[in-house]
Amino acid sequence: MRTINHYIAGASVESRTGRFGDVFDPNTGQVQARVGLADAGEVDAAVLAALKAQPAWAAVNPQRRARVMFAFKRLVEARMQELAELLSSEHGKVVADSKGDVQRGLEVVEFACGIPHALKGEYTEGAGPGIDVYSMRQPLGVVAGITPFNFPAMIPMWMFGVAIAVGNTFILKPSERDPSVPVRLGELFMEAGADVGIDVTGVLNVVHGDKAAVDAILEHPEISAVSFVGSSDIAHYVYRTGAAHGKRVQAMGGAKNHGIILPDADLDQAVKDIIGAAYGSAGERCMALPVTVPVGKGTAEALRGKLLAEIETLKVGLSSDPAAQYGPVVTAAHKAKIEGYIQTGVDEGAELVVDGRGFSLQGYEDGFFVGPTLFDKVTTDMKTYQDEIFGPVLQIVRADSFEEAVALPSKHQYGNGVAIFTRNGRAAREFAQKVNVGMVGINVPIPVPVAYHSFGGWKRSAFGDANQHGMEGLRFWTKVKTVTARWPEGDVADSAFVIPTMS
Ligand code: NAD
Repeated sequence: MRTINHYIAGASVESRTGRFGDVFDPNTGQVQARVGLADAGEVDAAVLAALKAQPAWAAVNPQRRARVMFAFKRLVEARMQELAELLSSEHGKVVADSKGDVQRGLEVVEFACGIPHALKGEYTEGAGPGIDVYSMRQPLGVVAGITPFNFPAMIPMWMFGVAIAVGNTFILKPSERDPSVPVRLGELFMEAGADVGIDVTGVLNVVHGDKAAVDAILEHPEISAVSFVGSSDIAHYVYRTGAAHGKRVQAMGGAKNHGIILPDADLDQAVKDIIGAAYGSAGERCMALPVTVPVGKGTAEALRGKLLAEIETLKVGLSSDPAAQYGPVVTAAHKAKIEGYIQTGVDEGAELVVDGRGFSLQGYEDGFFVGPTLFDKVTTDMKTYQDEIFGPVLQIVRADSFEEAVALPSKHQYGNGVAIFTRNGRAAREFAQKVNVGMVGINVPIPVPVAYHSFGGWKRSAFGDANQHGMEGLRFWTKVKTVTARWPEGDVADSAFVIPTMS
């Protein structure tokens, strides 16, 4: 069986711990490879490689570091098809969606290509007599990223794209469920350095593992900062543990995003958007829209009818099938969890309009497929409303008024994304201003911000105070140094014993 190795200091490194994780083909349900799971010693080897590389990498001037990012972007673009197919084969999302996964990550690399400009410091001439003040952003040193299964290309690039460009060296601990694409990214980064004549050995290291590897990262004294994306309980654990070990931590968690439909919305457009956002990638997106909130009975009835018609035309298929709209979910365990939630929804009294359980694809009966599922008359006291299901399950929660609709996402434990569908600019503006959620879409179902803005939710969707990528990412991955310099003319006055002022 194929074994997926770590990638440390520019070389494939076999795990010696004797512990392995299964990597499935979600289409067939069969194990297709195994991945070595690191212990603290193997994490330490990666940290040593990163530590060794960091001073020289930080000393490469920003323009030349940007050249490596440009070269990396070109290489990833050239391998787009191969990377997307590899990604789909382990994740289960369709190839077109995997290309989007790679592309959205590349956009952060494009942002990082402009790092010489973004990294410029600030300068105040004449802050006092003969005194100038300037500040600069310096890299933190060795930093780490821990990523989830659902975006194995985009989320690593969110993190290392910016972290590396500013002069840090990086340890990536990707999800052990789809670890191959992260390794390919590591290899391509090495190639990018070679293409522009800069040695990047040890700048980007990939270590596979589970909790043991994560704990080793969180406790390692030489790692200065950790970025995490995954489920909320683990995000909170990572935030607490990393901070207790003196690290800078940003930890993004789960989500339950609402799509609000006002009576004046273009319903046909909204329905198409909601279908794509609820069922695309089998609902395994942190910016999916698993809850839709029609305002008013008329809107609810019309919405339900149109959703049903669209669901009937949905094509669930192999991740390699270009005609399929979504493929299998990632593992059998995840499939069982989703189907368990569907049963809970029935038990707690929601109306199951379309049941996706028992879906099977001829010839692929052991694949991890779940059919599209629709619940109506879901209420806020239900567990299936409060929890993140992370599958192709759409819930209709009916609201009587705009105020009631805004209160739903605002009061929910998660606050990642939200969308409103309306033709009323005034209502949309009020909604965007008032809703207690980090990312808002106005007639945009999946409002993932562009790379030069930043990504981050609120409440239990994110712990820590810096978002991913854009200038927020740059701030997260650097520390500020401020220099106050005095070059007075003539004699220097005696120093005073009081706090200095600029007067
Ligand atoms: P997960 O929390 O199971 O795993 C995330 C990472 O944590 C993986 O690298 C995994 O190896 C590691 N991990 C797993 N168990 C651990 C433990 N007990 N202790 C320490 N580390 C552990 O998440 P997942 O299932 O891979 O991804 C799906 C989740 O990620 C969903 O909740 C989704 O909403 C969330 N997500 C959030 C965002 C966001 O930006 N907010 C983006 C994508 C995904």
